[in-house]
Amino acid sequence: MTLGTPPYSPRSVTILGSTGSVGQNAVELIDYHQGQFTVEAVTAHRNVALLAAQALKLRAKLAVIADPDLYPSLCQALAGSGIKAAAGEEAVIEAALYPAELVVAALVGSVGLKPCLTAIERGAILAFANKEVLVSAGDLVMQQVKKNGATLLPIDSEHNAIFQIYDPHQRDHIRRIILTASGGPFRTWSREAMAAAQPDQALRHPNWSMGAKITIDSATMMNKGLEIIEAHYLFGLAAAKIDVVIHPQSIIHSMLEYEDGSILAELGAPDMRTPIAHALAWPRRMSSTSSKLDLLTIADLQFFAPDLVKFPALNLARNCLLAGGAAPTIMNAANEIAVAAFLARQIGFAEITALVDQALNKIPNCALTSLEDILAIDFATRQTTLALIKQT
Ligand code: MG
Repeated sequence: MTLGTPPYSPRSVTILGSTGSVGQNAVELIDYHQGQFTVEAVTAHRNVALLAAQALKLRAKLAVIADPDLYPSLCQALAGSGIKAAAGEEAVIEAALYPAELVVAALVGSVGLKPCLTAIERGAILAFANKEVLVSAGDLVMQQVKKNGATLLPIDSEHNAIFQIYDPHQRDHIRRIILTASGGPFRTWSREAMAAAQPDQALRHPNWSMGAKITIDSATMMNKGLEIIEAHYLFGLAAAKIDVVIHPQSIIHSMLEYEDGSILAELGAPDMRTPIAHALAWPRRMSSTSSKLDLLTIADLQFFAPDLVKFPALNLARNCLLAGGAAPTIMNAANEIAVAAFLARQIGFAEITALVDQALNKIPNCALTSLEDILAIDFATRQTTLALIKQT
């Protein structure tokens, strides 16, 4: 642990997915704490201009663009800087191999599985935002974390909140985790109005500023479904001990209830820079550029039960967790395809969750024993879901 005793040596960091919402916030915080961090590698999907600017600003050793067609542009942007440029999926895995103490896992989707496993296999600390990886391959990922002495630090605000108040020695005395959910942009909409919602309406999240995929997941509440599964793996609690409550203000980021009746909560402004700063500095603390919470302005905190009829994704996810095997993998892959199709205006809003349900009915559940099994089911589900979309 390089951040153990003063004088602290800089912590080495790699950011997988540096141009996304979480990645950009991580870059901002690292830049804000000049001298506290060194950067091994940054990777992005297609945003070459921002990736190159980040690599130059942070003086990274390696910059990787996942789309190989963009390799010449990256080389050009980094010419003369001494920063190594690389492209393609294998190069993203190479970035995860660079010897950073902490890897910010901020890719979107199960595409992050191999890079995350690579960082886990070398025992890194993962500041973990890529929840689809835990949903798609939770058993395998947690086995590898244990086997290799790696650490998962949740960046997802709910799980980061639980992590901050969770005492692993008292796990048997936890009555339940209470994940809070804003309810998304359609909390007060009718089912009919929701069914006709357009991408720009679904992308207007009331509280959080996030990427497109997670914002659509918030609108269907599949995001909270994914988070139930994420919480199960991170904290080792059964599905029955993970509850969801609607809290439209997003001030309480989640709660933990112990059997003696105590409920512990973490509060803050809805600003991802707080959990990202917490993970980057852990087990220490550092200042953050995030907004501050003024308690006097939040006198009215509300809590409601989720509407499971309007948001069927919540129970769908819970049932997949209970079913186990390939069900969560199928659910996640079908959802990734369905969300992309909605954003491309190929399907309506109500069809997102309906398609996930159809994919789950069409593909038989089975046990997953290896990475190859997971990748095969993930691929087959994508093909099946694309075929289902063509039929609509
Ligand atoms: Mg969250």
